Amino acid sequence: MKRRTKIVCTLGPAVDSREKLKALIDAGMNVARINCSHGDWETRKIWIKWLRELSSDISPIAILADLQGPKFRIGLLSADFMEVEEGQTITVGSGPTATLPVHQPEILAAMSPNARLLLGDGNVELKLGKKEGENFTARVMSSGQVKSRQGVTLVNKVFDVPPMTSKDIEDIGHACAAGVDYIALSYVKEAQDIVGLRREVDKYDPSIGLCAKIETREAIKDLDNILKVVDLVMVARGDLGLQMDIEDVPIMQKKIIDQSTWAGKPVITATQMLESMIENPRPTRAEATDVANAVLDGTDAIMLSGETASGAYPVECVKTMVRIAEKAEALFDRTRIENRFTDHAKNHVGHQEAIAHSVADLAALLRPAAVVSTTVSGNTARLVSKYRPKAPLLCATYDERTQCRLAVVWGVEAIRLPTPKTTEEGVINAIRTFRKKKRLKENDLVVITAGVPFGEGNTNLILTQVVNG
Ligand code: PGA
Ligand code: MN
Repeated sequence: MKRRTKIVCTLGPAVDSREKLKALIDAGMNVARINCSHGDWETRKIWIKWLRELSSDISPIAILADLQGPKFRIGLLSADFMEVEEGQTITVGSGPTATLPVHQPEILAAMSPNARLLLGDGNVELKLGKKEGENFTARVMSSGQVKSRQGVTLVNKVFDVPPMTSKDIEDIGHACAAGVDYIALSYVKEAQDIVGLRREVDKYDPSIGLCAKIETREAIKDLDNILKVVDLVMVARGDLGLQMDIEDVPIMQKKIIDQSTWAGKPVITATQMLESMIENPRPTRAEATDVANAVLDGTDAIMLSGETASGAYPVECVKTMVRIAEKAEALFDRTRIENRFTDHAKNHVGHQEAIAHSVADLAALLRPAAVVSTTVSGNTARLVSKYRPKAPLLCATYDERTQCRLAVVWGVEAIRLPTPKTTEEGVINAIRTFRKKKRLKENDLVVITAGVPFGEGNTNLILTQVVNG
């Protein structure tokens, strides 16, 4: 695999067959995202079965179930949709005469004069005026179409809602039974939300990884703590763009990627990456540049949403991402990570970090054919990836869940082997298997990293070796 940045595809009606899923895998999908906001578990379980059958034994697909979370919606309009025009005055609220009915008490409680209301992706903006009875008057600030049951956000308002809805709890049970590799929580506000999700998921399967979707201001404030308890992060630009000024979104993307990478947690950049390809076979220049910039920011993975779930060109989208990512990766600069390491090292750096950093340095100096690592928990592979070495990152692990979870980690290609008795046996096996898979050949120089004694969760060994025999 030449490409280092991983690709997440959201599943949906556009890829609803075994052949179409195979085409996505062949094009380069690494993670399949199941969006719990649409569809049913009966269909999703069939997709999961197909994906498991179709996945290769080197770097199999990870499956990410994305919970809907406490999303607010307007009620039913008198028609399926209506057009509103800039300058027009309408009414919003729970009263019987409201143009736009809103019934959920949490959002009603947060509504006040002068508040800004965004509908859908933010295409329609309203500014609330006076309250009259149960309704507010509202001035339309930007024209557009409003649909029944469309999502609604109040800009800069915090809602007092529990982190998981009863639907989320139900979806967690289904997702765990279906054997997904990651579960993502929407609208995370603080680390405690992830702790609560961990508790719920542990009732079924503690080996499932957790993903925090960063899409609220509160989550950004508590990001350091969230990173301590989560396994994967998503820069959820869709809702971020509704919850804060749009000009803050690019800056936040860079900050979240930087902070997550530094904490050793993989990070996905999501939403509208190739949006125009929902309808067109080619992306806009701005979209191509956005994908390239996310790669240069150092994201582990880039995500497609509607593009693959319901668009007309799902496979072309993946192929386009692959091409853009590969080009941008050639320009990726490790200096930012280097500088940060150097700053950090002045104060304190643990020996595992020093080992991982040295592996990347060795890879730069020796230009080996690959960095080979063995990992029980996935930790060694993530640590090595964190310093973004130029060489391919070939990793052997012993457990299916760990192997699948590594699918989202930058640059890592993972195989699964029988559990060895010693680290040495694990390394020998790994090299032999990667040779069989044609990822290594005789006389290749490799940099090896692992932990001794075997299985103690420590990364403490570096070895350089020429492949022979
Ligand atoms: P969503 O999350 O698509 O589930 O809303 C991603 C985002 O908000 O960007
Ligand atoms: Mn969202």
